[in-house]
Amino acid sequence: MTSIPDIRPGSTLGIVGGGQLGRMIALAAANHGLKVHIFAPDDDSPAFDVAAERTVAAYDDVAALARFAASVDVVTYEFENIPAAAAEALAAKAPLHPNAAALATTQDRLAEKTFINALGIETAPFRAVDDAAGLARALAEIGRPAVLKTRRFGYDGKGQRMIRADEAVDVEAIFAEFSGAPCILEGFVPFAGEISVVAARGTDGAFAAYDPCANEHRNHILAVTRVPAPGIAPQTEAAAIGIARRIAEALDYVGVLAVEMFLVAQADGPSRVVVNEIAPRVHNSGHWTIEGATTSQFAQHVRAVCGWPLGDPARVAGRAVEMHNLIGDEVDDWAAILARPGAQLHLYGKGEARPGRKMGHVTWLLPPA
Ligand code: AMP
Repeated sequence: MTSIPDIRPGSTLGIVGGGQLGRMIALAAANHGLKVHIFAPDDDSPAFDVAAERTVAAYDDVAALARFAASVDVVTYEFENIPAAAAEALAAKAPLHPNAAALATTQDRLAEKTFINALGIETAPFRAVDDAAGLARALAEIGRPAVLKTRRFGYDGKGQRMIRADEAVDVEAIFAEFSGAPCILEGFVPFAGEISVVAARGTDGAFAAYDPCANEHRNHILAVTRVPAPGIAPQTEAAAIGIARRIAEALDYVGVLAVEMFLVAQADGPSRVVVNEIAPRVHNSGHWTIEGATTSQFAQHVRAVCGWPLGDPARVAGRAVEMHNLIGDEVDDWAAILARPGAQLHLYGKGEARPGRKMGHVTWLLPPA
């Protein structure tokens, strides 16, 4: 007999963060008979359009977070840069998935890479950098080219700077660009491509991974995702999925996560996988799953955080899939996109199409690959 989980249709899912990811989780939750309450600091958050209830408050407003969590049946988040104290305030009042420790590990690049290496999984070589002298030491040890990144709050290439092999390095000036923020210096990985594994782990430890997808960035922002990843060897795919599974298990993770990886060509065999970072949430490189997989990443996340059985991550009819982000004024082409047979358009309901802002995406199902 199927056991009935504690969270039932009609329950309320709380989502911290009100962007497009929260909006698409909310839509999937509604499809499963759940009500959604969104917590976000901006009163024009895209997710508010599709939620039954909203709380507008800052991510460090612990009292508001506690009231919010007390009013819902289970809490998740679509945004990993919430303070650790906020996650603890939530977890004190409602089940929080993914757990607060997973959030703390993945929101700090130093803690994240240390954790990944401790599992025996390769990352770029790295050193903590806390001042200009530390940057000089790290450069001497890691070599160049290298990438200096803030430990926290980086996304879409923000808070990072390449240090080339041929530039005249002034460590004081470079570190000053980061305004004293704690940083990490990473060796540059000479990658042949970038992939991600989007996967889910349930409360019972069940694990389901989507096929690894290839990601193409423009100006540090994801532009196109392709699945299956063109030219990827089966051994590399299996290694990538195995890495995502070990990470999810070690974090005692519940929900959807994305592990971004570099592929490094090898002279004598299939490409090696080097982990770049973990996103403790649904991910832009998983948007193709809405039409392209039997269970979308958003439905899968809802299932996982509610303690429900995971769905099938297989691609629909084995079709290859491409997802194109609509960044900034690319969204102005919406009418032309709608007129193209097969184009599946998603718009996030954001007001102003500022440069670099993710306004929507388009998914194409291609012949099976
Ligand atoms: P991140 O913010 O860490 O996801 O980095 C954004 C992008 O910068 C990545 O998708 C890569 O294209 C590039 N990048 C970041 N770190 C490295 C590295 N250590 N080596 C080579 N490229 C990197």
